[in-house]
Formats: sequence, structure tokens, C-alpha cells
Amino acid sequence: MRVAVIGGGIAGAELIRVAAPCPLQFTLIEPKKQVEMQALYPEYLGGVARLQDLAAPLKPFCEKVGAVHVQERALRLEDNTVICEKSEVEFDYAVVATGAAQNYFGIKGVENTFSINTLEETKKARRYVEDNYPERIMIMGSGLTGVEAASILAESMDASIYIIEARERVLPQFSPQTSDLVEKALSKKGVNILTSTQVAEVKKDCIIFTDSSSLDCDMAIWTAGIKPTPFIQSLDLPKKNGWILVDDHLNAKANIFAIGDCAWVEIDGKLATKTGLEAERQASYLARHFRNMIKGRTFEKYSVRASTDSQVALISLGADCAVGVVGKTCIGVPTRLIYSLKSWIDKSFIKRFK
Ligand SMILES: Cc1cc2nc3c(=O)[nH]c(=O)nc-3n(C[C@H](O)[C@H](O)[C@H](O)COP(=O)(O)OP(=O)(O)OC[C@H]3O[C@@H](n4cnc5c(N)ncnc54)[C@H](O)[C@@H]3O)c2cc1C
Repeated sequence: MRVAVIGGGIAGAELIRVAAPCPLQFTLIEPKKQVEMQALYPEYLGGVARLQDLAAPLKPFCEKVGAVHVQERALRLEDNTVICEKSEVEFDYAVVATGAAQNYFGIKGVENTFSINTLEETKKARRYVEDNYPERIMIMGSGLTGVEAASILAESMDASIYIIEARERVLPQFSPQTSDLVEKALSKKGVNILTSTQVAEVKKDCIIFTDSSSLDCDMAIWTAGIKPTPFIQSLDLPKKNGWILVDDHLNAKANIFAIGDCAWVEIDGKLATKTGLEAERQASYLARHFRNMIKGRTFEKYSVRASTDSQVALISLGADCAVGVVGKTCIGVPTRLIYSLKSWIDKSFIKRFK
């Protein structure tokens, strides 16, 4: 059986790694040369993580596990064929794992800001920091990415760091206790926190807010929100809010599955978060599902671990400091041990592909 995996990020690459060795013929369609670990981008931005910590080449990995790497972008699906930029890949099963795109919410000037959603963009931001020594850095959005970026920059640079959040507290998707603990940690590092503050426009050297006030800045970084990619939007598959809607076996339609950020995974009232943790678990589940299918066995449904109403996360707050969150419980000490655990998890993910 031929399985086409579209997207070689955390979900797609992990699926192939866990499934091997098996009689399925995997083809990984991924335009990048390497699998990358986004969780380490804030540390790369702060000059703490090295490139080799956060990426591993896909070619030797695919050779090792007997998969074929088509280094191209998938353009569309036609019957049982993935149409790529230069070639076509026929499949018996397809898995869509193409992640998400940065959402700029149509705010004027935001597309011209820095982003740390991809490695290329993160490298660009890091180069700007090294070459220009910005003195006032505005980070817009206080989800995991914004909070981690603010912490590491406050620690590694002699600059005024601001974090701007439209809602009433940082990390609004987490419990109030977690937000409180993280706000205290950020303030201790000297980060200026502006909550209930909405960006109306970003200009070259200042940010204008919806109440017409403004703040000068030397560098603006956008971290607020993700949305489905144009590829996902173009697919003729069931959707929920633009994401691929899957059933409780991560199946979207007939022989097409979807995992990771591009999928809307809502099972037994639990909506999966768009996190590396969930992407990895969904990949492992599907790998086992394929093995069972070959043997003609039925398989239990997927069980969501990190859901929007019960988050599971390790949040790094600079080098040597992190907090753990499980549901409403936020574990703030020992910060150094939690940081070591997060760092080990993030780095060992990439090592698996080397
Ligand atoms: C800065 C940052 C920090 C984060 N920190 C954490 C954290 O600490 N903990 C955590 O759990 N989660 C974290 N996340 C979220 C986590 O990284 C994502 O949830 C996870 O990467 C999703 O995996 P994925 O495989 O679905 O998507 P991705 O890892 O984004 O991979 C998608 C892949 O698909 C490829 N692709 C896209 N379009 C196409 C196409 N048309 N054809 C072929 N290939 C295509 C892309 O090139 C990419 O390689 C963070 C995210 C960011 C941006």
C-alpha cells in the first residue's frame, strides 16, 4: 500500500518514523530539506539554541526508514494522486499534515513585521537583532510563542521589551493562575505587559493602537494567531472553521487522513490544541492505526490529551526557567528542573531523526 504524507513537520515526519519498519510504502512530500522543531524558535531568536538543535535533514532520515522524499510543495489532490510542483504522487492512502499559516487578521502593516512562525522568518529576525541591536522591541500576541520570545529577549538583550495582548491577561487560553504566574515572571525580567490593548496599525517605527495612542519601536514581532494555509483551504474535504474536520480515527474522508495543526480534532467533547504535543500523539496514533489496518484489525478511537479546556504544556520563561501546566494546575517550581525537562524533550525530538 502506498501512503502519501503531505507535510514533513512534527506530525508528518513523526508518523513515518513511528510506522517504520512496516510494509507500507511511504512518500513524504515536503518542500523543505529538513524537519524543524518550532518550540525552539524563541530560543534561537534569543541566541540560546543552535541551528543543529532545531533541525534534522530529511533525506538521510527517509533513506534510513525506506521512505521516499519528494522535495516539492503539494498543490492539490486529484482522485488518488497528489499533484506537486513538478511531479505527481499516486496513493492508496493520503495523510495531510501541512501545519498552519500565520494569521495577520488583516491589520494594516502587520505583514511587514517580523514573525517566528517558520525557521526562515526566525533566522531573519535573529539577523536583525544581531545587526541592529534594537532598543525597543514590541511583541504582539501573548500566547506561548509571544511569552517565550519576550522572556528570552528580555534576558539576552539590553533592550526594552513590550508584550501586547488584546485580551485582559497574557496566555488567555490558559487558566488565570497560569497567566498570573507568567505575568509575574515576565515583570520580574523587566518585560512591559500591555493587556486589553489592540493593535490598529504597524508603521515602520511605531505601533498605533485602536484607542489612537501609539508607541515607538525599533522592532515589531507578530506572534498572534494561526489560520489554515491556502492549500488546506483548497482541499475538497470536510472543514470546521477552515480546518480539516476529522472523525475519531483522524479520518477526513474515504482514504484521506489529517493530523497536526491543519486538522480539527474534536473527540468526546475535547478539542485538541494546535501543539507539538498533540501533533506528535496524533502521528503515533495514525502509525499504529496503519499497522492494524494491514493486519485487518479494528482500532480504538483517538483520545485527545491536550485540549483547549484542559491544556498541557511546558512554557519556557528564558534560559533555565520554565513552568509546567496540566489542566488548571500550574507547576511553577522547581523552574530549573522544568526548563531542563522542556529543553530535553524539544532537543530529543530532533535527535530521533538524525
Ligand atoms: C514559535 C513556536 C513555538 C512553539 N512552541 C511550542 C511548544 O513549546 N510546545 C508545543 O507543544 N507546541 C509548540 N508550538 C506549536 C507546534 O510547533 C505545532 O503545533 C506543531 O509544529 C504542529 O506540527 P505540524 O506537523 O502539524 O505542523 P508543522 O510542524 O508546521 O509542519 C508542517 C509542514 O508542512 C509543510 N507544508 C506546508 N504546506 C505544504 C504543502 N502544500 N505541501 C507540502 N508540504 C507543506 C511545511 O513546510 C512544514 O514542514 C510552537 C509553535 C511555534 C510557531
